[in-house]
Amino acid sequence: MLELSTPIKFVKRVGERIADALAKRGVETVEDLLYHLPFRYEDRLNPVPIRELKAWTMASIIGEVRGSVLLRTRSMPIFEMTVGQGLDTVKCMWFHGGYLKDRFKAGQMVALYGKLEASRSTAGKFKMIQPQFEILPAADSPEAEYVSLEVGRIVPVYEFLGGTTAWGAKLTSRWLRRVVWGLLEELDSANDRVPETLPKGMLERLSLPRRLDALRVVHFPEAGTPIAHLMSATTPAHKRLIFEELFYLELGLELKRRRLREREGTAFVTDEGVRKALKQILPFHPTAAQKRVLGEIAADMRKPQPMRRLLQGDVGSGKTIVAMQAALVAIENGYQAALMAPTEILATQHYLSARKLLDGAISPSTGKPYRVTLLTGSLDDAAKREARGRIYRGETQLAIGTHALIEEKVDFDNLGLVIVDEQHRFGVQQRFRLMKKPGADGRLSEPDVLVMTATPIPRPLALTLYGDLETSVIDELPPGRSPVVTRRTTEERAEDVWAFVRRRVAAGQQAYIVYPVIEGAKDDHPELDFARDETGEAASKTADQSTAPLKRKGSARDNKSSRTGRKAQGSTEKLFAPKKALRAATDMYEELQSGALAGLRLGLLHGKLSANDKEVVMRRFQRGEIDVLIATTVIEVGVDVPNASVMVIEHAERFGLAQMHQLRGRVGRGAAKSYCILMTGGQVNEHADARLNAMVGTQNGFELAELDLEQRGPGEFFGTRQAGMPEFRVANLLRDRAVFELAKAEVARFVQQPDPRITREERDAVWARLKQQWQRRYGLVEA
Ligand code: ADP
Ligand code: MG
Repeated sequence: MLELSTPIKFVKRVGERIADALAKRGVETVEDLLYHLPFRYEDRLNPVPIRELKAWTMASIIGEVRGSVLLRTRSMPIFEMTVGQGLDTVKCMWFHGGYLKDRFKAGQMVALYGKLEASRSTAGKFKMIQPQFEILPAADSPEAEYVSLEVGRIVPVYEFLGGTTAWGAKLTSRWLRRVVWGLLEELDSANDRVPETLPKGMLERLSLPRRLDALRVVHFPEAGTPIAHLMSATTPAHKRLIFEELFYLELGLELKRRRLREREGTAFVTDEGVRKALKQILPFHPTAAQKRVLGEIAADMRKPQPMRRLLQGDVGSGKTIVAMQAALVAIENGYQAALMAPTEILATQHYLSARKLLDGAISPSTGKPYRVTLLTGSLDDAAKREARGRIYRGETQLAIGTHALIEEKVDFDNLGLVIVDEQHRFGVQQRFRLMKKPGADGRLSEPDVLVMTATPIPRPLALTLYGDLETSVIDELPPGRSPVVTRRTTEERAEDVWAFVRRRVAAGQQAYIVYPVIEGAKDDHPELDFARDETGEAASKTADQSTAPLKRKGSARDNKSSRTGRKAQGSTEKLFAPKKALRAATDMYEELQSGALAGLRLGLLHGKLSANDKEVVMRRFQRGEIDVLIATTVIEVGVDVPNASVMVIEHAERFGLAQMHQLRGRVGRGAAKSYCILMTGGQVNEHADARLNAMVGTQNGFELAELDLEQRGPGEFFGTRQAGMPEFRVANLLRDRAVFELAKAEVARFVQQPDPRITREERDAVWARLKQQWQRRYGLVEA
């Protein structure tokens, strides 16, 4: 008998081999499969007539195959098919479509989904480029039993889950429909095999359907359900499933927050002496935002519970000084502070700026200068041992280093505060390990933790990722900053760009030129966002619905393939020409040095240099001994050289928005007018185009982050899922903000004011389910 927890291999049509393939996509049980929701729907009950279609929109069409032909063009075979409804016809094209030659027969009914383009040759006619398709079963087909799943209804379309049938066919949407239909039929036949996960009283109050009902209509919507509601996941059934997921997420976060409040931390004092200490290191007047944020941090530090606070502030908003002041609060209280950065360059730079700030300062509590230690991987072993010893014996008050080193290899004498810079680079999980580091004296109190990020985190993401952290935002830039003039250009105009760089250097300014890779194909940066997001993909055969685009990229893929398709019409040659080599930092360093920038003092900085060399280069650039720093994205975060006022990014089409924004944040830090030049080389696809335009259009990190999140989806926003981002089964934080707010309100209600309509058993069941879910989905359960 089938249950939700039944392994998927026991399901009819699945079996061991397919189950293995599905497991790779996280589908292991009946429940997993049922929560693999359609990512779009086609209305095959009331299909839109061809004459009502609009150009440049995504459309689904049902029509009859009229004829097809395989055109052998010079560069590739193109499969062309005409589909008609009465007198109206639409032409479909698939590039490299040879494989489709024998798929269609005249008279067959097909469902198509793709972007419509106005035909160039015939006014009022359309063309569909590379549409996804499904051949519809004839009413008298031997599979008549399933015909009703394919036609005459709203049909679900699923993300491809990988795997093939025993005879090697892809597991299409059609296959999934049959499997899911079978599952729902069977589960329906017996009550109670789909246990309800939410209290009945709650569902009634919110007018949300039962779980099984929701699952059924989310896969097989009832006739008349508005397609727009289905596509935007706003039907009551969708809402119910999304609510369920977000309710448990929020409940789990609430539980964590409660546990934290029960833990023991340090109650720092901020008396006159401490205030004096903070004041004396200030090289400038803090902005109102900096003051407010410091106040929030200090208030947290005074509490006896451990602080868990996120400090958000756009690039250049001045987080460093706030962090240093927080460190001083701990230090003046007789504790040590640790500052961890994601890269050596950044750690080194923090060290240098800490030294600069603290230089000459005398600690009011000890009457002595402050003692700061740098600990990075590139120190030789003796130096590392030495540094660790100083930290362990409590001789160092502020330890600055790379994350891995400090977290894994160092025992502190008396650690009171941990500051984590640029958190998104680390992943969220580490945060939890870090909190548990015991002091060398065996005391149980936990250090306060301040997480800093310059990645503006769109609110919905911040809520989940950092849902258990309090948040402070520096929402104001230091005075005197003018916006960075941002322009797009192409590689063809490089000479003009170099001439501009020369003029700026002649005017006493410094410049960065950034490349995506070090040399040849060697990447410097595992997080290069769009390394492969190039148009060569147009050749991939994404014709069949079974290869429906992955949901996470959303309609992005659809757009892309049709866009590249459109281009192909004009200049197919160019599109399929071999990919041009990327301009790389090392090569360009040499080329520029002997060419366009000859005579200027150039420096080269990338991740493969030894830490020592990196530091030397950075220092020379900081001191103005290097005019132009040719670099990879290693300089992306935190680097602070106010005299640098030009940022040139080559192959800007390869960079994600967050990266470009960070890079641009390296300039505009001084008095001089600053420039960011985004240079593209090669194809710029629709997405890259949108990114570049957004960069030109706004300097607001939060706006850019929202677009970034839209383009990449929450999973990739922070790199990968290793970043600890909970993966959602049905929810999408961008789309489902309203439901998330509802879930939060319901969680508050659930924990604070027991609803008389919710029984004791139901409450217990919710907590039990939370434990099980939290463990399985997020792995965040702590001892
Ligand atoms: P981020 O938030 O990106 O880490 P930084 O802390 O590096 O920013 O600050 C950026 C630059 O602005 C630094 O050169 C810093 O000295 C300067 N700065 C920060 N706060 C102020 C302020 N209140 N007034 C003037 N300059 C400031
Ligand atoms: Mg910083």
